[in-house]
Amino acid sequence: MRKTLFLISAAMIATFCVSAQPKKPQSDIDKKVDALIAQMTLEEKVGQMTEVTSDVVSTTTNGVHEIDPAKINEAILKYHVGSILNVSGHAYDRKHWYEVISAIQAEAAQDRLKIPVIYGIDAIHGVTYTQGSTLFPQEIAMAATFNRTLAYKAGTITAYETRASYIPWNYSPVLDLGKNPLWPRIYETFGEDPYLGKTMGASIIHGYQGGDVGDKYHVAACMKHYLGYGDPLDGKDRTPAWIPDRYMREYFLPQFAEAVREGAKTLMINSGEINGTPIHASHYMLTDVLRGELHFDGIAVTDWRDIEYLHDRHHIAATQKDAVMIAVNAGVDMSMVPYEYSFYNYLVELVKEGKVPMTRVNEAVHRILKVKYELGLFERPVGNPGDYPKFGSDEFRKVSLQAATEAITLLKNTNNVLPLKKGMKVLVTGPAANTMRSLDGGWSYTWQGEQADNFAAGKNNILKAIQQKIGKDNVIYEPGATVDSVKNVEAAVKAAKNADAIVLCLGESSYTENVGNIDDLNLPWAQTELALELAKTGKPIILVLAEGRPRVVTEAESHSAATVMMYLAGNEGGDALANILFGDANPSGKLPFTYPRAADALVNYYRKNLENGNSDDSHGYNPLYEFGFGLSYTTFSYSNLHLSQPSLKDGETMTVTVDVKNTGPQEGLESVLLYSRQEYASIAPDFKRLRAYQKIDLKPGEMKTVSFKITPRDLAFVNDLSKTVTEAGEFKIMIGDQSQAFNFISNAVPDRQGKL
Ligand code: BGC
Repeated sequence: MRKTLFLISAAMIATFCVSAQPKKPQSDIDKKVDALIAQMTLEEKVGQMTEVTSDVVSTTTNGVHEIDPAKINEAILKYHVGSILNVSGHAYDRKHWYEVISAIQAEAAQDRLKIPVIYGIDAIHGVTYTQGSTLFPQEIAMAATFNRTLAYKAGTITAYETRASYIPWNYSPVLDLGKNPLWPRIYETFGEDPYLGKTMGASIIHGYQGGDVGDKYHVAACMKHYLGYGDPLDGKDRTPAWIPDRYMREYFLPQFAEAVREGAKTLMINSGEINGTPIHASHYMLTDVLRGELHFDGIAVTDWRDIEYLHDRHHIAATQKDAVMIAVNAGVDMSMVPYEYSFYNYLVELVKEGKVPMTRVNEAVHRILKVKYELGLFERPVGNPGDYPKFGSDEFRKVSLQAATEAITLLKNTNNVLPLKKGMKVLVTGPAANTMRSLDGGWSYTWQGEQADNFAAGKNNILKAIQQKIGKDNVIYEPGATVDSVKNVEAAVKAAKNADAIVLCLGESSYTENVGNIDDLNLPWAQTELALELAKTGKPIILVLAEGRPRVVTEAESHSAATVMMYLAGNEGGDALANILFGDANPSGKLPFTYPRAADALVNYYRKNLENGNSDDSHGYNPLYEFGFGLSYTTFSYSNLHLSQPSLKDGETMTVTVDVKNTGPQEGLESVLLYSRQEYASIAPDFKRLRAYQKIDLKPGEMKTVSFKITPRDLAFVNDLSKTVTEAGEFKIMIGDQSQAFNFISNAVPDRQGKL
C-alpha cells in the first residue's frame, strides 16, 4: 500500500526554482557609477574593494580610538581605501562617532575623485558600539516572539540609531540557520527553522532599509554569512561543514533568497569551508548561485581576514597572492582585509598580469559605488547631529521592552506557581542573576560584551529588576555559583530557608565566535550542583535560563516548579522578566529551537518522518521541549481547522482557517503556528515543517478565526536533483492539536528520481 501511494504521489511533480528577482535594467545611478568608473585608475578601483579596520587608521589611548592624521592620509590618499569597519573594544558616545566619521570623510574629500568611504558596523541587536543606544533582544529572542512587526520595528530603530552614529552600513541580519546548538553563534540567528529565519530576516531588513535606504534614517543591510555557516560538523566556530547541495538549498538558502527579494543591499560571506571548499573560493556559491540564480546585484564582502585564510587556514592557495586571485575571481567584491594593504598590492599586480580580469574589478567597483550612491553618501557623507532626537529615547526603549516580554518563553508552570505574589520573600540566586552580560550577550558595547555591566549600568539586571518590582526588603541575594564554579552554595541554601520561592538564574555569560566554543552542551556542573542543593530545601524553584543557546539543563530542570527561558533578552530583559514573574505581563514566547534533553541527542524538529517505522526510531526526537513550545498564564483551545477545498491543484490557493479561543482567566497573546507534512515523496519527507504563523491577541473568553493562504509552492522541497518541487500526493496541515489531510494534484511532468 505504501509503495503504491509513493508511486502515485511521486508521479506528478511541479517544479520551481529558488531564483529571486530578474536582473534590473540600467538605472540613473548605474549610469552615474559607470561615468565615475570611466575616470578611475586601476589603483583607485582596487582601493574601493579594500576594507580596513578602524585600528589601521587610528591611534588608541586607553582603548579609545582617535583618527590618526598620518594613517588616514595613507589609507585614503595612498591606497584609496573604500571602506572602514568596526571598533571592537570600546563603545563611543555619539559626539566621538561624529568626530571619527567626519575625519574619515574629510580625508576622502581630499582624494582626486572625492569618493566617500562607506563605514560598516555590527549593529546586530541595536547599535553595539554607541553608548546609550537601544539594545534589543538578540535575534534568537526576536525569533521567539514570532512577531514580524516587532522585528521590523527593531530594524527601523536600529537603523535610526546607526545613522545617528553617522554610520550607513550594518552587518546584520544574521540569516544563518541556528541548527547546531553547540555553535557559539546560535543566539545571533533566528533559530533552527528556515521559514522563521526567512520571514523574520526579511522583516528586519525592511526595517533597516525602509522605503529609501538613502534617507537619513535608514542603512544598508548586510545579510550574513552566506552560506552554510551555522552547521559546522563539530559545533565549533569556523570549522568545516559537510552540507550536500540539496540540503543547502532546502534549509540554508531560502533565507538569503528572501533577503534578496526584500532588496538587501549587501552580503557577507561565510568564513567556513563546506565539503572542502571555502566559500570565499567558491565560484559556484558566489557567482553561479548568488548572481545567476538569486540575481543578487549588491556588494559581496568577505568576512574578517578570510582571503588570507584561504592560504593560512584552508590551504587551498599556495600564496597570499593566489588567495586574492581565487577569491576575487570567485566573486568577492570587497575584502575585509582588515589590518594592512597586501590585498590592494596583490590585486593591482594580478590585474596587470592578466590573472584577474578588469571586467571583474569593474563589476565589483560598480556594486560598491552603486550602494554608496544609493545611501546618499555622495551628498551627505556625514549626518547632521541634530537630526536624531529620538536616539536612546523612552519611545525606543519601550519597543525593546515589548520585544523582550514577547520573547520570554514559559516552559513549565507546575500548579500555576507563576505568577508569584508581590508580597512574597524571594531568594534570587545563580550566576545570571546579577549581570547584564547574561542578558545582552556578545556584540554589546564590545565584541565579547564583557563590559556590559559598566556601559549598561543604568539598566536593570535580573536582581535589580526584581528588587525594584517587589521592594529590596523582599529580596535576598546570594550568587551561589559563577558560570562554572560553585560559590558559597551553603549561604544560598541557608538564605532559601527564609524565602517563599527561589528565582534560580542559570545560564551563560557573554561571548561570540570562537571565544564561545564549548566541548560540552551540558550546563557546567557547578550550576546543576547549586540547583540540586537548593532543591533539597523543598522551596519552589523558578528556574530562569539566561543563555545564548540551549545548554542541557535536564537534571537541574527536573527540580523546578517553573521554568522560564529568556535567551539573551537585551537591555530591558530584566524588567521584562520581573513583569512576567510577578504577573504584570503574560508570557507569549515560543521556542525557536528544539531544547535538547541530552547533550548527545541533538535532533531538529524537522527530523525525518519515522512515525510509522521501527519502534526504536521514535527515540530519535525526545527533546526536553519541542520547537514552537511555550505556555501562557491563560489557556488557548484550537478547533474547527478547516481547509477551503478537499484538494489543491497547480496554481490554486487554499485557505486554511482555525478557531482559537482564550479559555483561561486573562488576556494573552498566542502565536498560531501552521505546519505541513507530506506523507510520501520521492525523497524521505520531513516529519513536519513550519509554513506560516500569526500572532494574535485574545481577551478572556474571546475567539478568533485565524486564516492562512497556502499555495503548492509553500509545500515544496528540494529534490535529489537539487530542484525545488511540489510533488503530488497526500499532505496534512497541522495547527495546535488540530490536523486535516488533503491531496495535492498536479499535471507537472515527474522528474527523475533515485539519483545518488
Ligand atoms: C564576524 C562577522 C562580523 C565581522 C566584523 C567577523 O569576525 O564573523 O559577523 O560582521 O567580524 O566585525
